[in-house]
Amino acid sequence: MSITSDTIKKFVKNDCPEDDIFYQAMEEVICSISPLLKSDDRYKKYAILERLVVPDRIIKFKVAWLDDNNEIQVNTGFRVQFNNTLGPYKGGLRFHPTVNEGILKFLGFEQILKNSLTGLPIGGAKGGSDFNPKGKSDFEIMKFCSSFMVELHKYIGPRIDVPAGDIGVGGREIGYLFGEYKKITSSHQGVLTGKPFVFGGSLMRPEATGYGAVYFTQKMLEIEAKEPLEGKICTVSGAGNVALHVIEKLQQIGAIPVSCSDSKGTLYDSRGLDLALLKELKLERRVSLEEYVKTHESAKYTPVSEYPEHAHAVWDIPCYAAFPCATQNELNETDAHNLITNGCESVTEGANMPSTLEATAAILSHKLCFAPAKAANAGGVVVSSFEMSQNAAMTRWTFDEVDEKLKLTMQQICTRVALTAKDYGVEGNYVDGANIAGFKKVADAMIAEGI
Ligand code: NDP
Repeated sequence: MSITSDTIKKFVKNDCPEDDIFYQAMEEVICSISPLLKSDDRYKKYAILERLVVPDRIIKFKVAWLDDNNEIQVNTGFRVQFNNTLGPYKGGLRFHPTVNEGILKFLGFEQILKNSLTGLPIGGAKGGSDFNPKGKSDFEIMKFCSSFMVELHKYIGPRIDVPAGDIGVGGREIGYLFGEYKKITSSHQGVLTGKPFVFGGSLMRPEATGYGAVYFTQKMLEIEAKEPLEGKICTVSGAGNVALHVIEKLQQIGAIPVSCSDSKGTLYDSRGLDLALLKELKLERRVSLEEYVKTHESAKYTPVSEYPEHAHAVWDIPCYAAFPCATQNELNETDAHNLITNGCESVTEGANMPSTLEATAAILSHKLCFAPAKAANAGGVVVSSFEMSQNAAMTRWTFDEVDEKLKLTMQQICTRVALTAKDYGVEGNYVDGANIAGFKKVADAMIAEGI
């Protein structure tokens, strides 16, 4: 059977409206890898593309749990085990009301190529639930996580599938999930990453994605002979795990992050963000960014209702480097043009696919440096893989050891992506470089493993 790229697009498009986001991710990859597919007919002969775009399996299950009023609530849980050619399935769990099969297929598909780019032995997966953690008590979160794991534990294991966190799933949730897994199986093993340090987590896992995105950007700017980040104004979106650690690392290297955002609005502090206050607001008190301006009167808070039409306030702030770190499709074509007009030189995707296809095209055509998510935000899964190694060897690495290995790995990914782009005649295009390098490794391994 031979399926062309057009047929795959059509197949996905017609499959289910939820799959539009998956189709968007696939379209970008298929466009990037077409020179590779044309240059080597083994990929067609072994139907690699046709096999790669279909998940190995999608597990869908009911999660019934008791809320604090002793009323039964019911949510849906998912695990998309996409591809385990390079190693055990690996990818985060997302708890958010928007979670559906299409979003998890898009994230799982991206994860295959991202994990391939790291050079580490891990396959691609993603999972989660439409459960909304916002406004839930600690006990409700605990009860939900326990019920979720009662089903999920049947399908995971240190050599089978190792989930981690994502939106709505941090150290607290991973801890509750791990506790339930241990209770059910009587086995203390590295079946989840992102665990709290006291029972098997790796130092630096919380910081890894954000720090890694900054390390990648530093290397990309060096390769592209652009000015470094030190002393430069940077804009960041999001105010969660990835965003806060991008801000932290930018400040450590002497850059000046001036913005962040959440689902309710955007914060702009032209004097540079007060990170300690942000952590207090978002990690401890879990309140709106609007609180920030109560103690920092020169800062400006723009609620979503006051955003310019078809644009996001955060991308209208002049900057040298932009770091979208909130969610998918949060940077559209209008936003891209605002960044370009305001003199931005570099965009790094901390979130998964935060830029629309049109925004990416505009950014690339104006020759800005552009670090795509599957390469730039790989730091999280890199340190997750380090956590698996530490768990398997029953050992612990120091913060500095992990940081050094992370930095080196992000630099290696960046160099590999840049060289691949050059080899395939698209020098400076890190989107094509990442897609080709990520795809080629998995594809060659799939051929070697047979059908
Ligand atoms: P968190 O849940 O910690 O934070 C997400 C942040 O984004 C929150 O501040 C949230 O605001 C904000 N947000 C959500 N939707 C919007 C929106 N529409 N507009 C503006 N802000 C919004 O998630 P993470 O930081 O972990 O993840 C962020 C992104 O990074 C996701 O795309 C994730 O897949 C990706 N990623 C995460 C990794 C990790 O290690 N955590 C690894 C690799 C990728 P609010 O609080 O109001 O909901």
